Amino acid sequence: MHRDLIDDVPVLWADAPGPLTAALIFGCGARDETFRTLGVTHLVEHLAMSTLPRLHHEHNAQVDLELTQFTATGRPDQVVAFLDRVCRALADLPVDRADRESGVLAAEDGCAAHPTAGALLTHRYGIQGLGLAPFSGPGPDRIPLDAVRDCAARYFHAGNAVLTLTGPPPPGLRLPLPAGDRPDRSGTQPVLVTASSWQEDTVPGPGLGVHGDLADQGLQLAMAVLQERLREVARNQRGLSYDVSCDRALAGPDGGDRMIHLDARDGEEQQVAELLWQQAVLLAAEGPSAEEVAEEAEGTREFFLDPRTVALELEFAANAELLGWSYRSVADRLDLLDEVTPEQVREAFARAMDSALLVVPIGTRPGARRADGTELPEGGCAGTAGLPAGGRTFRAPLRDRLTDAGARRARLVVTGEGLWTRMPSGGVHHIAFADVVGVEVHTPGRVVFGRNHCVIPVMPELFAGIGPALTAVDEAVPAELHYPASAFKNAD
Ligand SMILES: [Zn+2]
Repeated sequence: MHRDLIDDVPVLWADAPGPLTAALIFGCGARDETFRTLGVTHLVEHLAMSTLPRLHHEHNAQVDLELTQFTATGRPDQVVAFLDRVCRALADLPVDRADRESGVLAAEDGCAAHPTAGALLTHRYGIQGLGLAPFSGPGPDRIPLDAVRDCAARYFHAGNAVLTLTGPPPPGLRLPLPAGDRPDRSGTQPVLVTASSWQEDTVPGPGLGVHGDLADQGLQLAMAVLQERLREVARNQRGLSYDVSCDRALAGPDGGDRMIHLDARDGEEQQVAELLWQQAVLLAAEGPSAEEVAEEAEGTREFFLDPRTVALELEFAANAELLGWSYRSVADRLDLLDEVTPEQVREAFARAMDSALLVVPIGTRPGARRADGTELPEGGCAGTAGLPAGGRTFRAPLRDRLTDAGARRARLVVTGEGLWTRMPSGGVHHIAFADVVGVEVHTPGRVVFGRNHCVIPVMPELFAGIGPALTAVDEAVPAELHYPASAFKNAD
């Protein structure tokens, strides 16, 4: 891998077959946003791309949780022209087009991660950083223009960019980006939940996430073995699933989450969830066989020695450079992989299973047990103690209480510290005012989103005489966190 510097942007390149492919990569993604500004990085990307004329060579742009990339494949002169245009657009963003592009974003309805991976990350981190993954937030038409300008200035500059190329830099290549300081990436996002638990969510199928060192080869191999075993049992033997996927998310230089998720045939969610958990517990207890480890190592070797993965490897190195973790070459990684023993894989996975989160589709009861035989507890706000003493209490409208036992149980309690609600099902949720990440304004009514992943509707359909509750929310939560419900109606 070669390294150059063009206009203060590091350029990583290596020869690969086929036409020249360039990726201008910025070290920012959805995890750098807040609930209130969700989608702002994607909007910056769209605004920049909207300045391009019609191009006949392959080109694209994308935002994931960690990185934003602008990519082009074509003749060297086409790639040079593309990069020049993108850099100029980012340096002078056409913010006046935000209205139109937000409509395009709403139509695209893109997400920064697979919905099941996103749900796992929200259960792990709450509605912040990586945990923003499954949300669309207030909606693309509610992103403040100041947030667009701020995002562009903070992240889209030469100090936060790396260019990768599958060949030497072509003559005339310039990257006219503004100068800037690379954001500090030394910190690691703290987790909300460390102990193992299960939770239901609106996911297409069950998923399992563990928290740990992403550089740990044992853990990486364990996930690959688990994926292969699930493919064999859930897909090949029992025909319950089609897709079994692995995912990862970086919380900081020290680690993050590795996740595995499956789809489930309609009506088979329960079986697939049980299978996923049982296979994970079995792998943590007994470890893989020597053949399985050798098989996965061989697969990895073949993948990375394929010349077509050069672009991917360059992206990997750029990711390391931008996000502050140490890059190891393919050769070094493969050497390390060869040294991993089945027992190391088992140990790494058993350790990681202490932090396992199992997410299942709504209505699924996995009945899972930990390795020590204790029941895997239900996580999230199911653990919130009862309603507080004192505070102002609101009940369901009288007509609902007369006809519905659930409505008789429902409560909203407002204190100086925050909101509590008891659902018709009996579960209690709580959001401290200090932890509110967004207030969706309806006329009348408010929907309050909490950092802890609770969402409390303060709506007249649910509670009678809520005027004082609305006043309390509006007074306690800063005005900049309030927004009118999106005209696109796609807020969560
Ligand atoms: Zn809750």
